Amino acid sequence: MITVEQKTEAQRRAAILLRTAGLALAANEEAGIEVADFGLGNLEREGAQILTLVQTERISAKAIAMTASQTLPEHWHPPMGTDLGKEETVRVQWGTVFFFTEGPETLQSGVIPVGKEEVYTMRHETVMRPGDQLYCRPAQKHWFQAGEEGAVLFSFSSAARDILDMFTDPAVGRVTLVKGN
Ligand code: ZN
Repeated sequence: MITVEQKTEAQRRAAILLRTAGLALAANEEAGIEVADFGLGNLEREGAQILTLVQTERISAKAIAMTASQTLPEHWHPPMGTDLGKEETVRVQWGTVFFFTEGPETLQSGVIPVGKEEVYTMRHETVMRPGDQLYCRPAQKHWFQAGEEGAVLFSFSSAARDILDMFTDPAVGRVTLVKGN
C-alpha cells in the first residue's frame, strides 16, 4: 500500500529519470506511470515505476524507471493456455542495472534486500550498462536492481499480462493499492 502523495512523488521522480535518460514524454504520460510496490509496502527498497509505451494483444514495450538501489522482486512469466509465457528483452538506457538469472553464483555488486535471502534465489549477476541488453525466455526466473544513481531500462516483450506473473516472495501482490483511492 502506498499513499496518493507517495504515488505522485514517485511519478514525478520517475519522469525526471526518464527525461534524464533521453525519453520524450507527452504531457499526460507522467500521470500514467504505474507505481508498483508489489504489495510489500516498501517502495524505496522493492518497487518500480513503469511507463507502458505499447500494449497490444501480442506485444508490449515498457520503460522502467528505478530509483537508487530499488529492486524489482524475483518473478517469472508462466505459460497461459496456448501462450508459452512472456518472453522479454531488457535494455538499459541509463544508469547501471544488476540483473539476476539462473546460473553460477556471481552476485557481487547487487544486494539482496535484508532478510529476503529466501525469496531472491537467482544469484547469477550480469552488470548491465547503457546499451546492454539481455533476453529472458518464457518462465525463466529473474530479478533486477538499479545501481546507486538509479536506472532506466526498456522491456520489450510478447504480451504482458502482469497479473499472471509469478513471484518467489509469497508476500507479493501485483496490484498496488493506493490509500484513499
Ligand atoms: Zn519479467
